[in-house]
Amino acid sequence: MIKHDIVIVGGGLAGCRAALEIKRLYPSLDVALIAKTHPIRSHSVAAQGGIAASLKNVDPEDSWEAHAFDTVKGSDYLADQDAVEILTKEAPDVIIELEHLGVLFSRSSDGRIAQRPFGGHSHSRACYAADKTGHAILHELVNNLRRYGVHIYDEWYVLKLILEDNQAKGVIAFEITTSKVEAIAAKAVLFATGGYGRVYNTTSNDYASTGDGLGMAAAAGIPLEDMEFVQFHPTGLYPVGVLVSEAVRGEGAYLLNSEGERFMTHYAPSRMELAPRDITSRAIGLEIRAGRGINLDGSAGGPFVYLDVRHLGEVTIKSRIPFAWEEAHRLLGVDAVYQPIPVRPTVHYCMGGIPVNTATQVRRDGNSLVERFFAAGECSCVSVHGGNRLGANSLLECVVYGRKAGASIAQYVQDKDFPESDYEYHLAEARSAINSLLEKEGTIRIDVLRQAIQDCMSEYCSVFRTQATLEEGLDKLRKLKQDYNQIYLDDKGDCWNTELIEALELQNILIVAEIILTSALMRQESRGSHAREDYPTRNDGDFLKHTLAFYSPEKVKIDYMPVVINRFTPQERKY
Ligand SMILES: Cc1cc2nc3c(=O)[nH]c(=O)nc-3n(C[C@H](O)[C@H](O)[C@H](O)COP(=O)(O)OP(=O)(O)OC[C@H]3O[C@@H](n4cnc5c(N)ncnc54)[C@H](O)[C@@H]3O)c2cc1C
Repeated sequence: MIKHDIVIVGGGLAGCRAALEIKRLYPSLDVALIAKTHPIRSHSVAAQGGIAASLKNVDPEDSWEAHAFDTVKGSDYLADQDAVEILTKEAPDVIIELEHLGVLFSRSSDGRIAQRPFGGHSHSRACYAADKTGHAILHELVNNLRRYGVHIYDEWYVLKLILEDNQAKGVIAFEITTSKVEAIAAKAVLFATGGYGRVYNTTSNDYASTGDGLGMAAAAGIPLEDMEFVQFHPTGLYPVGVLVSEAVRGEGAYLLNSEGERFMTHYAPSRMELAPRDITSRAIGLEIRAGRGINLDGSAGGPFVYLDVRHLGEVTIKSRIPFAWEEAHRLLGVDAVYQPIPVRPTVHYCMGGIPVNTATQVRRDGNSLVERFFAAGECSCVSVHGGNRLGANSLLECVVYGRKAGASIAQYVQDKDFPESDYEYHLAEARSAINSLLEKEGTIRIDVLRQAIQDCMSEYCSVFRTQATLEEGLDKLRKLKQDYNQIYLDDKGDCWNTELIEALELQNILIVAEIILTSALMRQESRGSHAREDYPTRNDGDFLKHTLAFYSPEKVKIDYMPVVINRFTPQERKY
């Protein structure tokens, strides 16, 4: 059996930043980082627009308090304000630290780190590296892991969290190149497994964002928090759903309907294209519904609107948002210097997740914690985003709370021994589950079932929801869950069996989808990204609280937990 003092699952920004912190504080701790991709292929590498911090390089009026207020207002008052305070207060410090690690941020003409405007932020505070910010940060972090001697298991798939006696005791992992299965014991486990965009059929997320950490935690009996809040990014490239960064609107792009009108004037007159994402996505949805969307031949009544940058000019486009230009050109043949870009909302981010306290330790329920178990980054919910995340706040969360996770865990394991468990039993159980998957003799292929699930979620649990759509969606999903028993795998091999990995991922997709639908059904109000057409207003009296969804194969049970409100009193949210 393999043993490490600390096991981190996930090699994105959150996992890497945590690993680095542990090694800096206690170099003798033995830290393993496991990732199903190579760490630098984690979805963090695709982050484009920026990372927020009140550095005041461009806007001297900015402050952490203003950043905190924007974040809480953006969250539709569902964020925990103690967690937001930590996020925004520590932001300038973590950016300087990244710079000292070697991250190449873009500069203003006086040589300081440049900052651009971003949706829902009242000041120019997004630091960036052109429109490849995640790339710049993740590469430096991974380089530094090697320097500090973190043991990296890349292309290992974690399929189970060993959770007994309210303690995380390790994981079961599968080496993708050889199909070797191992139990890995640890004094503490950190999940930093990212988001679940692939639960939907149109998403900006990479293929690996299948919600594994969420599914594994839920299957082990841990609740998931606020899962009804799914972020739809307003500008997914039509039809592929690939992201066109908010930085493009930060640089001044317009959103136009079929009449050539900047329609945001009707929805958020003071912020226009830089309103928060929930509001902008709904606005696009309503324009399309009203027949003011556009077709590929330019006529009205189609499924997308235009994102127009032509007025910015070629020099700005190619120097400030080169990746967006390249994407539109490569994927659609659109030259954004001369033509508008077709866009519509795409699933982008998971506001909910594994509930944690501000030290990143996982919650058992509203009152107690799980021992030896921590979570950070997109898979976690410390609730800095509440009902809607502001752009540039996620990379920030990964770095601030990744660092905090590292410090908490390093301290936590100081007086801990390895836990006791029958690891051989867990290993045998995992091997037999894998064998029975390989031996399945059904008639349904994995990709067909996955597509049906993704279509179900996109149809019944999208930007707008009602009791009827959610109930129908749940009904359909439960039937699709039965179909999982009827799958079969063509590939029985033990080298790079990606079909087997997809079958394992599908188990997590199913769990996450059921939790999203059930949580959304129970929240009978509209708040942030959760827009119920049958309950169109926010209802603080009944629903200013966090959802906790407990999964079992028979049903999802819903409970609630209070929101921490210690600074900003909830008000009507207008832009
Ligand atoms: C296209 C795009 C652009 C974005 N732009 C921005 C931006 O400009 N600013 C911003 O703030 N945010 C942005 N975001 C959001 C932000 O990038 C993510 O929320 C953040 O990077 C998530 O980091 P993470 O460390 O939590 O997870 P990820 O970077 O997603 O990493 C997850 C890791 O977990 C591993 N993993 C998952 N499951 C398993 C398993 N079963 N076994 C082993 N390993 C596993 C993966 O291999 C990977 O290494 C963007 C997101 C997208 C999709």
